[in-house]
Order: sequence, then structure tokens, then C-alpha cells
Amino acid sequence: MSDGQPPETGRVILVGTPIGNLGDISLRAVEELRRADVVCCEDTRRTRGLLSALGVPAGSRLMALHAHNEAGAAEVAVRRAAAGATVAVVTDAGMPGISDPGERLVAAAIAAGVPVDVVPGPAAAVAAVVISGLPAQRWCFEGFLPRSGRARAQRLAAIAGDERTTVLYEAPHRVLRTLEDLVEACGAQRPVTCARELTKLHQELWRGELAGALRWVEEHPPRGEWVVVVGGAPAAAVGEDAVGEALGAALDAGVDRRSAVAEVARSLDVPKRRVYEAALTMTWPPRDL
Ligand code: SAM
Repeated sequence: MSDGQPPETGRVILVGTPIGNLGDISLRAVEELRRADVVCCEDTRRTRGLLSALGVPAGSRLMALHAHNEAGAAEVAVRRAAAGATVAVVTDAGMPGISDPGERLVAAAIAAGVPVDVVPGPAAAVAAVVISGLPAQRWCFEGFLPRSGRARAQRLAAIAGDERTTVLYEAPHRVLRTLEDLVEACGAQRPVTCARELTKLHQELWRGELAGALRWVEEHPPRGEWVVVVGGAPAAAVGEDAVGEALGAALDAGVDRRSAVAEVARSLDVPKRRVYEAALTMTWPPRDL
């Protein structure tokens, strides 16, 4: 029944939850989860377990919002908020919207004029970059790399040339391949930190260079959740001219192309692929290129 007044407006509130250690839940997160009329979550069973551990009754407030229904569920959630409900949003772990559902719901709420709020909480990317030992003044979150093809190659090339630290999420069964691709794109000596099972009982950090990380992962088949933090490209990057000159000198000295590429890559500490590409574009005189 309408009383001529505009409908009361509720809100959508994104709530960060722990990435493995229940002790990381915030007081405000508990309070908002207790007060919410609706709790959108990826996996209702998992969130029921979290609420139960926090002593917060779930009742009939849980609503599934996951990668496969986000558009439709977001519409329903925004309608509830526009009608006055407080709609809390959690995911299985960490911050909603970070490699997890949330972004579409926020966009839909903003479009509908529904206020959006946030309870900041743990995010694996932030935890990993600050503990990595790599520069954290400027860094880039890449989330999960595209699985294959040109999109993956382009992303890897962008990471290789980026002077900022890059943070990647990876599933355990893909860590090995991703490290192999990073070695290929960034060179074996690029600094890296692999962070697994952050905040959990079996938290483990491996710090070193990509080649060593690859060996470590080969020897210790990866399990659990992983973040790979890759150091940025050296600030004073070796210019194309320097690569061309070193290559020319090696070829002039009679070194064959394959060995010249390897030698220059090693001496200038640049990826072989980059030297090889320089070799292809060179207009150096009578040489077998
Ligand atoms: N929304 C989450 C966040 O704020 O970090 C990320 C969710 S994403 C679907 C899951 C990925 O995050 C995992 O595959 C892993 O790369 C990373 N991750 C989540 N928890 C982690 C942990 N405890 N240790 C290491 N990586 C973790």
C-alpha cells in the first residue's frame, strides 16, 4: 500500500571476511552481518558455517550470489535494498569484488541510486604484497591470468615490462605452468615471492628468483591457496640499442645466432625472447639472420 512517500532506501554493504583465519574477522563485520536483512553469499553452506562460528544466527537471510547467477541475483538484491533492506555481501573468503562476485552488484546498486558501503577486511593480494619483501609503494593486481592463448601471452608481456610489483592469484594445479611462463616472459632472475596458505596453519613463503621458485614448486607439488608476487622490471631497463649492439658484437665475433642470443640474454640479464626478437628485426649486414 502506498502512502505517497518515496520507498525507504536501504543499502548494500560489502563485508570482508577472513582468508583462512577466523580471528581476522572485524567487530564491525560481525555487527553488520548480525543486523543485515539479507546476506548475499557465494556458498550458503559455507557462510552458514561462518555465521555459526561467529555466533550470528543465519535464519532465512542467506541468498546465493555467485559467478553463475550474479546478474539476476544482483537485480533481486538491489530491489530488496531499494525497498529498505540492508543487504550485506560476503564471499567464501576475503573481499567481495576481488576476483570474486560483487562488482556487478555494486554497479547495479549505484545505477539504481542505492547507497553502497563497505566493511574492509582481509584480501590475499594485500597480505601477500606486504609480506613479500618486494616493493609495495606501487604495485599492480592482475588476479588470475587468462588460461591460454593470446590474452595470456599479452598479459605476461605486460607484466614482464611493468616496473611495478605484480600480484597474481593462482590455483595450485596451475602454479607450475604459470611460473614456467613467467620465467619465459620475465627472465629466470626476476625476483618473486610465492605465498601459500596465508594466515593459515601451514602458511609458507618462498622468496628468491623465478628459476628457484620453479625448482621449488617442481620438488614440492603445490597444494593450498597461492599468491605469486613478481618483482617489477628493473627501472633502468636495458634499452633496445644496448641489446642490438651486444648482439651485433657477438655476431661480428663469429658466434652463431642461437649462442649469441643466449650469451646476450645472460650478460644483459634480459629474457631470451627479447633478444631473439631484436635479432629478427636487426638490419645488421651480411649475417645469417
Ligand atoms: N576475494 C579474495 C580476496 O580478497 O583475496 C580472493 C578470492 S579468489 C576466488 C581465491 C584466490 O585468492 C586463491 O586461488 C588464491 O590465489 C588467493 N587466496 C585466497 N586466500 C588465500 C590464502 N589464504 N593464501 C594464499 N592465497 C589465497
